[in-house]
Amino acid sequence: MPDVRSVLADAVMRLGERADAELLLLHVLQQQRGWLFTHADDVLDMDVQTAFAALVARREKGEPVAYLTGRRGFWTLDLEVSPATLIPRPETELLVELALQRLPPVTVCSVADLGTGSGAIALAIARERPRAQVIATDASAAALAVAQRNAQRHAIGNVAFVHGDWLAPLAGQYFDLIVSNPPYIEAADPHLTQGDLRHEPANALASGPDGLDDIRRIVRDARTHLHPGGWLLFEHGWNQGAAARALLAESGYTEVFTAKDLESRDRVSGASYFARLNS
Ligand code: GLN
Repeated sequence: MPDVRSVLADAVMRLGERADAELLLLHVLQQQRGWLFTHADDVLDMDVQTAFAALVARREKGEPVAYLTGRRGFWTLDLEVSPATLIPRPETELLVELALQRLPPVTVCSVADLGTGSGAIALAIARERPRAQVIATDASAAALAVAQRNAQRHAIGNVAFVHGDWLAPLAGQYFDLIVSNPPYIEAADPHLTQGDLRHEPANALASGPDGLDDIRRIVRDARTHLHPGGWLLFEHGWNQGAAARALLAESGYTEVFTAKDLESRDRVSGASYFARLNS
């Protein structure tokens, strides 16, 4: 009989991943995780089996689970994602933590999130700091539409979304904190042609020969958008910490630091900036 247990066992065998199989089946059934514990013997309708088999086949061909279900959890938020957005990564929560450390809970402050994608970073900060005014930019209108739906779905009202490249749409605006998870993979990195990365937007992943093209631009341009003593924080690759710190120091930032993710890899660098009157 095609009960939940046997249909799942078959999918786990094909995908080699129990978690992926469960997420796809729960998505078809529109159920939460706990449902599986109590329904292992349920017989599945034919249309559910067909829909599940189609998703398993797509996963077998390499499509990321998050694009198949259209969802990914980040921080405390269940977010819509689409192939127009990067899939939020758990290591990016470090960037949110470092941002929150610099944003007092009770005072009004201004934050920009550059290249927001699904809105993950901007929405997590805005949710934790209701008095922060957050502006999220993205060069992709399709990504911004996803981010905007995520804000609406979670009733997060203190984020505004603007279309454009990095700081370009923020002319004349100043922030206490600028955050970004820009593309930072080297253009020739073979990982770009493997696994989930093949399906993610290339311009959200790769950034020139050394992966630092967009980071260089953000470090340069953020200076004219920070209040005195404001902070710039950005994510980068495990092997880019020294380069990121050098860029920040050369550009006149102070309190330059790199933070490591849970796997002890360099992951986020940041610094503060005081504009100099005669430079
Ligand atoms: N951390 C991602 C990866 O290596 C890349 C994300 C990014 O470029 N911002 O898969």
